[in-house]
Amino acid sequence: MAISSLGLVELVLLAINNRFTIANIAAATFGLLLILIFEGQRYKNEIKNQQRINLLRRESERDDLTGLLNYRALSQEIKALTQNRSIHNIVIGGLDIDHFKKINDTYGHFVGNEVLNHFSTVLCNRIHTAFPNHGYVYRFGGEEFSIVVSNHSIKEVYSVLQLIEEEMAGQPITTKEGITVFISFSASLTNHLNGEQLDDTLKWADKMLYSVKNSGRGWIVTDHHTSVKKVHRIDR
Ligand code: GH3
Ligand code: MG
Ligand code: MG
Repeated sequence: MAISSLGLVELVLLAINNRFTIANIAAATFGLLLILIFEGQRYKNEIKNQQRINLLRRESERDDLTGLLNYRALSQEIKALTQNRSIHNIVIGGLDIDHFKKINDTYGHFVGNEVLNHFSTVLCNRIHTAFPNHGYVYRFGGEEFSIVVSNHSIKEVYSVLQLIEEEMAGQPITTKEGITVFISFSASLTNHLNGEQLDDTLKWADKMLYSVKNSGRGWIVTDHHTSVKKVHRIDR
């Protein structure tokens, strides 16, 4: 743009000095044309590069196996939610499939992968349907998942997880090879407190999750203070 402006200034100066000839008008126009083509190409390349960067960023926030968002995306989302004034409550959940190693050991790693994919799909569908634009699902690694639900209470999120738990208990997963596998999961739900570091909330959710693992599995634990039937509560 700066070079084009200089070219225009040059043309004006030629006009002022009355040294306008067909040859130098043609030369200046040709020069300007070249600059415009060059600038247009540069602009197109910039857009393409930006699109590539955006794609890489999105890919770096996705888990390869399930296509779910990963920890990197979770921390970005929490940052965005805490900066959003219309968000007044953030519930974070930690979920872990019970005895998953046994599934791998019994049926093999590929069946394990199918189970992970099935679980991810069900979890995503239920959370997205129950909390449109406010519910997100992440894979933390292995058979561990996280959910983030904003502007809904722990009690509401608990009810949805309970339904998913019941669904899993009632319907086995049937793999491509016709193997049927029943799964259950353990979960913990907590609030991401104002000003709290995300990792501290996650550590707390993890600690609560271990209490479920140590008391029978297949439960949902919450630190919410109102009484919910069958909820195992822990005070922070
Ligand atoms: P718990 O009920 O205490 O959670 O027991 P668990 O067996 O579910 O947990 P553990 O941590 O003992 O085992 C998790 C297993 O998950 C071990 C690991 O090999 C397996 N795993 C991790 N990532 C993947 C994956 O991407 N695919 C498959 N098939 N298995 C995985
Ligand atoms: Mg597990
Ligand atoms: Mg685990």
